[in-house]
Amino acid sequence: MKIERHHQKEQDPKVRAKNFTEPVYNFDPETAIAEAKRCLKCKNAPCVNGCPVAVKIPEFIGKLAGGDPLGAAAVIRETNNLPAVCGRVCPQEEQCEKLCIRARMEGPVSIGALERYAADYALEHGPEQTPPKGSLKGRVAVVGSGPSSLTCAADCAAAGLSVTVYEAFHLAGGVLVYGIPEFRLPKSLVQKEIGKLLSLGVQLELNTVIGKTITLPQLLEKFDAVFIGSGAGLPQFLNIPGESLNGVYSANEYLTRVNLMRAYDPDSPTPVARGGRVTVFGAGNVAMDAARTALRLGADRVSIVYRRGREEMPARKEEIRHAEEEGIVFELLTAPLEIVGENGRVRAVKCVRCELGAPDASGRRRPVVIPDSDFEIPCETAIVAVGTSPNPLIKDSAPDLKVTEKGTIIVDEKGATSIPGVYAGGDAVTGAATVILAMGAGRTAAASIIEYSKTDKKQT
Ligand SMILES: Cc1cc2nc3c(=O)[nH]c(=O)nc-3n(C[C@H](O)[C@H](O)[C@H](O)COP(=O)(O)OP(=O)(O)OC[C@H]3O[C@@H](n4cnc5c(N)ncnc54)[C@H](O)[C@@H]3O)c2cc1C
Repeated sequence: MKIERHHQKEQDPKVRAKNFTEPVYNFDPETAIAEAKRCLKCKNAPCVNGCPVAVKIPEFIGKLAGGDPLGAAAVIRETNNLPAVCGRVCPQEEQCEKLCIRARMEGPVSIGALERYAADYALEHGPEQTPPKGSLKGRVAVVGSGPSSLTCAADCAAAGLSVTVYEAFHLAGGVLVYGIPEFRLPKSLVQKEIGKLLSLGVQLELNTVIGKTITLPQLLEKFDAVFIGSGAGLPQFLNIPGESLNGVYSANEYLTRVNLMRAYDPDSPTPVARGGRVTVFGAGNVAMDAARTALRLGADRVSIVYRRGREEMPARKEEIRHAEEEGIVFELLTAPLEIVGENGRVRAVKCVRCELGAPDASGRRRPVVIPDSDFEIPCETAIVAVGTSPNPLIKDSAPDLKVTEKGTIIVDEKGATSIPGVYAGGDAVTGAATVILAMGAGRTAAASIIEYSKTDKKQT
């Protein structure tokens, strides 16, 4: 039977563009139940195949439809220990919802929104049941505290292993705390999720840079196994003139100042550019987040400059729609030539218009410059969001750790690196990707670490 999809209500774009609260509201209980009842409970559950951590989607939605959100949350947690995060930031439209049978009819079941509803309900009204702890013995070090590491740590701890997480920053959570802004992912939620992890007995060592404070070989002396989930936090730049002018930021630095160092709070000692005109280079989630953050910090005008067209923009469709509704200007098929300065500060960005030519190695159509089409976008701040790569610090402290030309760690299908007992996953392996893929990799590596912990290491 045809039943229209229920959508989450949203804040007025003009209002939300000035605040750091979530643009999208949670379902109310009646809407959550009505939406859950749209699930067709397909026997082969194609939606589950679209989820990198195989959440039992029809099962949790069935619990919701029956008015049991705590039961629903418990089902999700069997395979996903960050449901409140995934319900908000996962690209469901490319994964579970894309494969929903109703997607071919009047629209897929709102799986992401229902996951958020169940997870938020459980965080507010718990307690949730915690699974019994295993009895395995052994010590595991986990490098980084982003979603790959948190997942790996939780699975290892649940098996009984003694886990210590080492994080370079003063707060755990990885990109979930320093990258994705408060209005898309409230930090209090991330901290609650991390609190659950610590309740499993995981130790957290903050302000500890592996490769500097402690080297990988030193970790291996103390621990039976190591997981590296150090992400891909090294920003790439455009390599055009003017990138060292005052007023130019990498998106990583800009978002870290605002999210982690609380620069959005006028009483915070962390400085950040506010107001004026801002140009952001790139069109992924990071670019959308930087642009929308600049708007919330009072920018008069925010432009996104992207050398390809709308179809090629890598950001989630919802983020693009939100940015557009909030008044961000999209300069598509536009490539930057130079950041123009005056007295050492940004005055404008010089750009050129492009058209799309034949596909390049990535399969996307290559932008071709239109002659004599250059023009200037006046601005006082420029933010570069054109990608990141892994930091070489860990690799430099462990010459036996094999990496690709791009600096990503080489692993086998079980997450094992070139060093026995050392596993890796997430952005450190794939390059910048998604939260759920990082979690999936953390889970795979944890399963391997659990197996490894059962072997006699001296013989491997
Ligand atoms: C602004 C932004 C927006 C995004 N939006 C989305 C989205 O909407 N949806 C989505 O699915 N994905 C999104 N992503 C991508 C997603 O956040 C990442 O793919 C994911 O966080 C990767 O997880 P990870 O565990 O591999 O690494 P990270 O989350 O990067 O965590 C790595 C952690 O390791 C720490 N670390 C690094 N080196 C060391 C060291 N030497 N010693 C100790 N600690 C170290 C870092 O400080 C960090 O805390 C976004 C990314 C950014 C930057």
